[in-house]
Amino acid sequence: VPQIYYCSRTHSQLAQFVREVQKSPFGKDVRVVSLGSRQNLCINDSVRKLGSSHLINDRCLEMQNNKKKEESRDKCDEAERKQKRKRKGESAGCPFHQHIPTYSDEVLAEVRDIEQLVVKGRKMDACPYYGTRYSIPAAQLVALPYNTLLHRHTREVSGIKLAGNVVIIDEAHNLVDTITGIHSVEITGGQIARAYSQLTQYSQRYKSRLLATNLRYIKQILHVLKHFILCLGGKGKTNDNTSLTQCTSSTEVHLQTINDFLFTAGMDNINLFKIQRYCEKSHISRKLNGFVEKYQPSVTLYTVPDTKSNTGGGASSVSKFLQQIKQGNQQQTGETQQSGEESPHQSSSPFMHIEAFLLALTNADKDGRVVINKQGRLSQSSLRFLLLNPALHFREIVQQARAVIMAGGTMQPVSEFKEHLLFAAGVEPQRITEFSCGHVIPGCNLLPVALGSGPAGGAVDFSYEHRNKEYMMVELGRVLVNLCNLVPAGVCVFFPSYEYERQVYKFFEDSGVLKRLSVRKQVFREPKKASQVDQVLSDYSKCIQRCKTQGYKAMPLTGALLFSVVGGKMSEGINFSDDLGRCVVMVGLPYPNIKSPELKEKMDYLDATMPHTTGKSPGQIHYENLCMKAVNQSIGRAIRHKEDYATIVLLDRRYFRPNVCAGLPNWISAHLQTISKFGDAFGTIRKVRVSS
Ligand code: SF4
Repeated sequence: VPQIYYCSRTHSQLAQFVREVQKSPFGKDVRVVSLGSRQNLCINDSVRKLGSSHLINDRCLEMQNNKKKEESRDKCDEAERKQKRKRKGESAGCPFHQHIPTYSDEVLAEVRDIEQLVVKGRKMDACPYYGTRYSIPAAQLVALPYNTLLHRHTREVSGIKLAGNVVIIDEAHNLVDTITGIHSVEITGGQIARAYSQLTQYSQRYKSRLLATNLRYIKQILHVLKHFILCLGGKGKTNDNTSLTQCTSSTEVHLQTINDFLFTAGMDNINLFKIQRYCEKSHISRKLNGFVEKYQPSVTLYTVPDTKSNTGGGASSVSKFLQQIKQGNQQQTGETQQSGEESPHQSSSPFMHIEAFLLALTNADKDGRVVINKQGRLSQSSLRFLLLNPALHFREIVQQARAVIMAGGTMQPVSEFKEHLLFAAGVEPQRITEFSCGHVIPGCNLLPVALGSGPAGGAVDFSYEHRNKEYMMVELGRVLVNLCNLVPAGVCVFFPSYEYERQVYKFFEDSGVLKRLSVRKQVFREPKKASQVDQVLSDYSKCIQRCKTQGYKAMPLTGALLFSVVGGKMSEGINFSDDLGRCVVMVGLPYPNIKSPELKEKMDYLDATMPHTTGKSPGQIHYENLCMKAVNQSIGRAIRHKEDYATIVLLDRRYFRPNVCAGLPNWISAHLQTISKFGDAFGTIRKVRVSS
């Protein structure tokens, strides 16, 4: 019997799916297992408290390793083993790595989501992470996150067998971006420098014990790391692995093909496949981590070395260099908070990132680019591998699986999806079946309006040339004031960028528009920090709830207004159902920055590799689709169930263009009203509000 692999983007979406299975008629007799990361499933509190997924993974694997080593050692008694462990500061295997088959039987007997799996694991003192993986072969339905399915190595180590099975990919509108994201690797100057430091010290300490071949590989990796630092503007002699100084280069971002980068980085005669095999077999990343913990905690790399040691060997020179980076960081007020940089403790596995980057460089020259991002300081500079051909990593899935179902509420435009992912992965057109159905709501619950002018009669056009003009912001203010007067409960406004949202908000503040808006709505803004999103949403929702309990008659306040940004923290994964989003306003068309080197490269790649079937180039189509996908994602936040209703205002005359309308989902474009005069649009919205 084929198995079904259901995957989605987040753990909460998977949990929601599992809860639906529980409620369904199959809930009683289907064998379901949910997979998650160690971070989600680990029940060993001393490991969990490490916080970051890298550290949890490393510690767990280290414990399994210690156990294996111990079991294979000469059979000394338990007391002696304990003594040895104490001396070496090691712990034995995890105490919860037990009762795995029994736990697995229990898991398959009843449908459980991740939280319930953890509770069960705690009750049985059995590890849910290994227990759920053990359950895969006997399960009929496996729920798993995207990266477990889409990343080949993760798929293989998790024991997922796709041959002859069915794969369901939910929220598939994200698929191309997700595959690109999973396989695009970035390493920062700080990570390179830390990996360099750790490896230098490791090789110096174990010089006499390491095999000559291993020492050669370590030297090659050090050579590569040194050249990465030089690429980012660091200074040092190319034939000397011990002296490096902080870079002072100017800001510059440029792209290179993989081959050009290998040449620039002095790696053209290094066999990356052999290095990759060495890294895999030797577990050097884990060893370095353990080494740093035992002998050179990463945090002490930043302390000021004494003057004598400063003049000495490689490790101290590197320490000085790292200390300069640290000082540089500290001079940037609040930089750590703004950039969300990891604390030194969290980022103690820099070599893992280096390994992933080296692996990415083994891709074919045409399938990727290297983005060299030089900033004033090395710690802020980075190297990024950009995957241009996501189909490369999807090919195996579509070839092996019996069927792949890609489902999503905002899959439009589908043609690009087929070209870039399916055809490019070798899928025959006759194997593809498209199915699209309308929304669950009746047509009268949705009023999409493309509005071409404001209350003063001026055309609304939020393109780059016009959006900063004062009259455009004045018209925007008038539209919002009118809508807020008319629509009770929640109104969400999506701006094309953070910068424009800030500019408009400032203008509204200075010109008194904000005061007028605040008469009817409490105004909220998307916060800068992701950690504040929940608080803002909770306050927004409470405000609407308060107004609702008074029947929206507690004049003058009738609800809340939320300013958010397309592609921001609130444009995906957050639902503005019912009164949270009775009206969604999309300000302009959020085209991405055409000057971005990465976007340009992607467009050039598509122009060179994809068929030119219409009047437009594939690169141009991709550029336009990026914009429409972002629009669809944002407006799809409202109307979340069959009794929901909302008005969607597309505020820009460019929405009148047939090619723009064609990029909207059918359930919106079928009802779209293009209205040139604001008065007519206002009348239509009022009529719908009165009848709803
Ligand atoms: S074996 Fe399981 S419980 Fe133990 S550390 Fe690893 S993930 Fe955590």
